[in-house]
Amino acid sequence: MTKDMTIGIPRGMSFYNNYPFWYGFFTALGVKIVLSDPTTKQTMSDGAALVVTETCLPIKIYLGHILNLIQKGVKNIYVPSLQSIAPKIYNCSKIRGLPDLVRNVIKEDVNIIEPTLDKSAKNQGLYEFLAESVKDFGITNKDEIKKASKQGWRVYNNFLVMARSGMSYKKAMKYALEGKIFIEENTKTAPINVALISHGYNMYDERATMKIFDKLENMDVKVFTSLRLTDEQMAEGIAALGQKRYWANEHEMTGTAGHYLKDNNIDGLITINAFGCGPDSLMVERITRKAKEANKPLLVLTIDEQTGEAGFITRLEAFIDMLFRKKRSDLIKNSDVEEYDYTPQTNICETILES
Ligand code: SF4
Repeated sequence: MTKDMTIGIPRGMSFYNNYPFWYGFFTALGVKIVLSDPTTKQTMSDGAALVVTETCLPIKIYLGHILNLIQKGVKNIYVPSLQSIAPKIYNCSKIRGLPDLVRNVIKEDVNIIEPTLDKSAKNQGLYEFLAESVKDFGITNKDEIKKASKQGWRVYNNFLVMARSGMSYKKAMKYALEGKIFIEENTKTAPINVALISHGYNMYDERATMKIFDKLENMDVKVFTSLRLTDEQMAEGIAALGQKRYWANEHEMTGTAGHYLKDNNIDGLITINAFGCGPDSLMVERITRKAKEANKPLLVLTIDEQTGEAGFITRLEAFIDMLFRKKRSDLIKNSDVEEYDYTPQTNICETILES
């Protein structure tokens, strides 16, 4: 048992989807949270130095965040093992074995708090997971833990409601942690709508995907993600691709893609996956096939720690430019307007230059 009532949470992996819950839960029990700093180039290279090159980028980033917490002097670090989130629905082996990996590569003397959630096994459900999360702090009272979990769900649901209303991820997270809830009047439209398909730990890590939301917004593009969808919509999306759910994160990949492929307001899809990710390579392959059948433009972006911003932007710009041109030509095709070749009036230019 530790007397230090502080828990370090690495800003990586399931942090991006689950932090509102953890925040509500731990603070309700009087456990102070210390977060690692946002990802930098250094975080990536520190984490990458601990594992073999083939390891996917999110894991390298996660390890970099653990080192960052150690540098901050945090003694208890939260590394949950999220095995299975529903019966027979599993996470990838790297997520499942995260505490083992961390213990093997981190040599510093820190207390790794490693609860297991395995809804495919007996007695490894949410309550057991939460009890294991706080037992090192001497918190064992069942009612207290259950009450704190209600507070966790409250913060999480507020976050979800705001994100679903169309509010940006960052804003929804900020308000939820402040205990506020607003519904954004999401009436703003843009000439192009794009669905971004990826895991939370890729999309919302501003260093890993180089502020892709800001970049798209600056290109006059409205972005839709899995956070706008309900579980039912994502489950229908998986079925629409002729698949069954197996991977835990299939909702945010296949399910989201399946949903937006059917949505006529969406002009194109962008998938972002980490180099070396086994589950994503399967899921993106299916999405690519279905996008072709649906005649929906798709851009597949792969990221690793070497991905340069210039090349990333060039590919994004080229794709968005293509979507604008396609939309323009579709609009003309479906209207009475005839498309003329544009011939510049050079005689006017010459007159101006001569005068
Ligand atoms: S799902 Fe892919 S990106 Fe995520 S941890 Fe597993 S291998 Fe890495």
